[in-house]
Amino acid sequence: LFGNEEHKVVIVGLDNAGKTTILYQFLMKEVVHTSPTIGSNVEEVVWKNVHFIMWDLGGQESLRAAWNTYYNHAEFLIVVVDSTDRERLPVTKEELWKMLNHEDLNKTSVLVYANKQDLKGCMTPAEISEQLKLTSLKKHRWQIQACCALTGEGLYQGLEWIYYQLK
Ligand code: GDP
Repeated sequence: LFGNEEHKVVIVGLDNAGKTTILYQFLMKEVVHTSPTIGSNVEEVVWKNVHFIMWDLGGQESLRAAWNTYYNHAEFLIVVVDSTDRERLPVTKEELWKMLNHEDLNKTSVLVYANKQDLKGCMTPAEISEQLKLTSLKKHRWQIQACCALTGEGLYQGLEWIYYQLK
């Protein structure tokens, strides 16, 4: 998928957004090596040459000192949003903007997955990008992709965009 170089993809989102489900779809059900949990909110999975570092937003304040280790040279930031969770979208917005102001993430491209599109009353990608103020991002390339992690629908289109950014 990503060639022979090493790539670092940081996956963030609130708890229950669907990060684990998405990661397992990416790994295509292969047996994966999971490192022991680094901090209460951080997990790293290595698949071929891609390092997926998964982070739960919201409870990470105490782990900020360790940011460098994980975020350094992250090429891609995947933000997973539970599209039914209107109440907590502002938390995601706040954390996303804080992260993107960090110098380690200066050159990071951002893919937002508007997950759980199968559920009734979910927000559309347009609503989510509006709420997250994605159009105000000046330094970062970004994309929003509707998906349903349970079936895998939409996930591949997101990866296609990531793949395209590598060229
Ligand atoms: P994480 O905390 O971000 O890692 O979230 P999980 O991957 O553990 O998912 C949280 C819950 O949402 C689980 O019960 C998943 O089965 C469910 N879930 C994840 N993606 C979807 C989706 O696209 N649609 C629906 N209906 N449920 C989903």
